[in-house]
Amino acid sequence: MIQRTSDDYFFATDLQENLVMVSANMANDFAIPGECFYDMNKYWFKLIHPDDLEGFVESIQIPESRKLNMGHDYEYRIKNRKGDYIWVRCRGQFAFDNRTDKPFLFTGTVKKLGQRNHADELTGLLNKYQFEHAVKVALNRYRADGVGGALMVFGLDNFKIVNETYNRHYGDEVLKLAAKHISDVLPAGLMLYKLDGDEFAVVCPGMDVADVTTIFENVQKGFSRPHTIEGKNIFCTVSSGTVLYPQSGKDYLVLHKHAEAALDLAKKDGKNKNCVFSKENYNRWKRSLSMRDDLRLSIEQDFEGFSLFFQPQVSTKTNKIVGAEALLRWRNPRGRMVSPMEFIRILEETKMIIPVGHWIFETAVKQCKKWQENNPGMTISINLSYEQIKDATFKDFVEDCLKRYDLSPEHIVLELTESTIVSDWSNINQQFDEFRRCGIRIAMDDFGTGYSSLAYLKNLSCDIVKIDRVFVTNITKKDNHFDRRLVGVTVDLCHSVNINCCIEGVETNEEYELLRDICHADTIQGYLFGRPESPENFEEKYFKAAQA
Ligand code: C2E
Ligand code: CA
Ligand code: CA
Repeated sequence: MIQRTSDDYFFATDLQENLVMVSANMANDFAIPGECFYDMNKYWFKLIHPDDLEGFVESIQIPESRKLNMGHDYEYRIKNRKGDYIWVRCRGQFAFDNRTDKPFLFTGTVKKLGQRNHADELTGLLNKYQFEHAVKVALNRYRADGVGGALMVFGLDNFKIVNETYNRHYGDEVLKLAAKHISDVLPAGLMLYKLDGDEFAVVCPGMDVADVTTIFENVQKGFSRPHTIEGKNIFCTVSSGTVLYPQSGKDYLVLHKHAEAALDLAKKDGKNKNCVFSKENYNRWKRSLSMRDDLRLSIEQDFEGFSLFFQPQVSTKTNKIVGAEALLRWRNPRGRMVSPMEFIRILEETKMIIPVGHWIFETAVKQCKKWQENNPGMTISINLSYEQIKDATFKDFVEDCLKRYDLSPEHIVLELTESTIVSDWSNINQQFDEFRRCGIRIAMDDFGTGYSSLAYLKNLSCDIVKIDRVFVTNITKKDNHFDRRLVGVTVDLCHSVNINCCIEGVETNEEYELLRDICHADTIQGYLFGRPESPENFEEKYFKAAQA
């Protein structure tokens, strides 16, 4: 007889005779004739939950030969002698006759999955185990009648910041709201599941890329308005990763992994989008993981491969260079230049931006000090990530650094991009006020691209606003009164509260003149005056030329 060694149930079926032996606890707990009997299926099928039966039958096909063997691994509900359905995971293996290549024995275990909570306590949605089960049912349906489909995994953008800014309780409310928004727009018959953290998922049998795109657009619409939770306005977007089956996998674990990779890519690509898994995308995702390692290596090797380029900022009053923005460059260990759009996000996600940020600041200060000799008063603008502001040691480092290089703080501007902040004004302002008190100026970067620029203007204490390139791109078009007015009004508004305006991305003379004369911008930065250059080239181009 099969010995009982744990809580699991064991069985072995002689396939030729259709005779089964089961462990004593299995005979005890389920309505089967005993420990040894004929025709297991006759009894077992009756005990399986009707919703799970089809999938189970599909998963337990006896393979014709060793080659076709996929084993058996399935989770389902089964009725015990008390009449309760319990969740179990059944894993089985076929043994093959070497001579005939036919299976002759099927052995395995049935493991109790315990009293699983099927619903997620917070949102009331079915949980990840149910999702796994639903995927397996969908895959069985594909095997049975060839109907493929898609899986979508949704993730909230910036949920970590929401949690950090407020508290877990508030975060929970956001999750509940998200659950409702997504559920509300799903086509009839589709069910939303709650996975770990801030993720949700849905199985879409019979659907293709066009269908999931429509679903995503509808979800996006629900998120497009700000919502008030506990008196606070929250603006939250959602990204999703989609994987098609059977094209991108025929197994739950593979599909889940691919969907998560696609979600990660959607977030890396700027969030608020759906990314459909493809081999090409997957390779890109893997590249970003290897970029992570390369960046770490660069940092460990004393910032090997990192450098700062400088782009001139020109005063509209004097037409002269008054400053430069320091822009980070990175050459990977194989010698390829990588775009900051790609690697800065990774530095931020991994918090490697903290050591790199120190290096950036120190390198920029050193450069600024050097350039003061011949260009007294020139400022250097340094980009700051939100992660760096949260780092409590940054401010002390900044002060110490300025002392070490004997540089006056008014030559330094710190730029913070607005899209990265959610809303903890008080903390950010506190940090900024400290910088400002010691004489460093603060610029709000990329004005106009974030969620609510005017709110930022109202709440953030800053000295300079940098208006984003998106407003400049079409500003000279004849009928584009709106952008022209918008830039003009923004500049006036800033001036009225003593904030300077720098306009970015100016590429043509026509744009420059318009921005100077009609919009009254203070400084201009853009390819018209120069692209970011290495310090040597910058000197060559702007200082030497000016002296000559
Ligand atoms: P940003 O801070 O808005 O920097 C301006 C970007 O616009 C630069 O791209 C610059 O090369 C580009 N640009 C300037 N003028 C023009 C123009 O006339 N036309 C066009 N098409 N583009 C122009 P870059 O160097 O690729 O940097 C991209 C972003 O990466 C930066 O945007 C900034 O957010 C981030 N970044 C760069 N360096 C650093 C850094 O040292 N620290 C941090 N935290 N972020 C950085
Ligand atoms: Ca900037
Ligand atoms: Ca900018």
